[in-house]
Amino acid sequence: MKILVIGSGGREHAIIRRLAADRPAPELHAAPGNPGIAELATCHDVSVSDLDAQVSLALELAADLVVVGPEAPLVAGSADRLRAAGLTVFGPSAAAAQLEGSKSWAKEIMAAARVPTAASVTVTAIEELGAGLDRVNPLSDVPFVVKADGLAAGKGVVVTPDRDAAVTHAEAVLTAGGTVVLEEFLDGPEVSLFCVSDGTRVVPLAPAQDFKRALDDDEGPNTGGMGAYSPLPWAPEGLADEVVRTVAQPTIDEMASRGTPFVGVLYCGLALTSRGVRVVEFNARFGDPETQVVLERLASPFAPLLLAAARGDLSTVPAPTWHDSAAVTVVVACAGYPAAARTGDVIAGIDAAEMLGTHVIHAGTVRDEHGALLSAGGRVLSVVGAGEDLEAARVLALAGAEAIALEGCQHRHDIARTAARDAQS
Ligand code: ATP
Repeated sequence: MKILVIGSGGREHAIIRRLAADRPAPELHAAPGNPGIAELATCHDVSVSDLDAQVSLALELAADLVVVGPEAPLVAGSADRLRAAGLTVFGPSAAAAQLEGSKSWAKEIMAAARVPTAASVTVTAIEELGAGLDRVNPLSDVPFVVKADGLAAGKGVVVTPDRDAAVTHAEAVLTAGGTVVLEEFLDGPEVSLFCVSDGTRVVPLAPAQDFKRALDDDEGPNTGGMGAYSPLPWAPEGLADEVVRTVAQPTIDEMASRGTPFVGVLYCGLALTSRGVRVVEFNARFGDPETQVVLERLASPFAPLLLAAARGDLSTVPAPTWHDSAAVTVVVACAGYPAAARTGDVIAGIDAAEMLGTHVIHAGTVRDEHGALLSAGGRVLSVVGAGEDLEAARVLALAGAEAIALEGCQHRHDIARTAARDAQS
């Protein structure tokens, strides 16, 4: 089987790494890929934003399956264009990807499908802000949640107890011509659950937890994600089934009934509140860095699952099975991330990290004309450790992250720490 993966980040490296482990191994191509992906697949110099070139490449390769990794090409219509050219595609149409592309639209779908989520108010003018904040947080006794409506790579959301800071963020978004979604604050641990869908059926993968804040103890600004782990020993039994029943299946049904069936990964970002499961956000693709840990634990073949969804019939494949091990990933970010990412620094220590028993996923790297590996994005590498339990996996991933040499780089030290400690006690 010949598979083309669109994208160049850690998620796409993790997807390709897992596809390469299937037997028989598929022939793998990436557009544009990255230096880590280049060790496993043929990389083609086609940008994620060049939809015409993606279609030409997929046709030229006669790809049996195209997997569109990132949200930006999905929202721009990459999957639609590829399907129109007769290709088999894993990834939603532009219309269906609006579940991620517009938070206000996602709220509308959830309301129609009776999916539990935070109460919200959509605001388009500065004069509406005060009343909106009063409605979602009438006593000002919990943090304010202010979200830019469109895609913002994890940086459009501010959660703050400071009303002035909430107003400042909202005003900045509105002044730039954007729309703001104000939300009720959801208390409780967060869970990410990837639900693979063929447009009608839903197959959940293993739940994971990611760490959005830049600094230890959930301090600092929101980021694209600084680490993740799976499984979640503390999560209630049957959580995945409950999320499918109350969240994913009703959403997939609603999308189908509107004539915009969702084929791909419906990423359910959830808060387990004292009042039950609530949706924090939907994404229209695999999450990064959760993909690194979820796919590390996937025991059953991956390509047939993606292909069956893309062909519209998940009933043709057995339910996924999972290794009874744990996986933790620690993201190594560049100096200045997320505010002002510094790129172009030399990266060393990957071999040393892998000698410890980790594997290192490339997220933002590039090779210069001399073959030297340089940082090329905010999140540079994602070091994955697997072990018999979370503590073993966590210690390994952390040691691997510490073996990376990149000037000014930063990583969190507490990924999975509390969960590992609680699981042991
Ligand atoms: P962006 O739109 O900038 O790409 P995103 O899609 O990652 O960001 P969300 O997942 O909606 O944005 O929010 C980011 C984080 O903010 C969440 O993971 C969660 O920790 C926190 N958050 C979002 N909504 C709420 C809420 N209603 N209550 C409490 N925390 C929230």
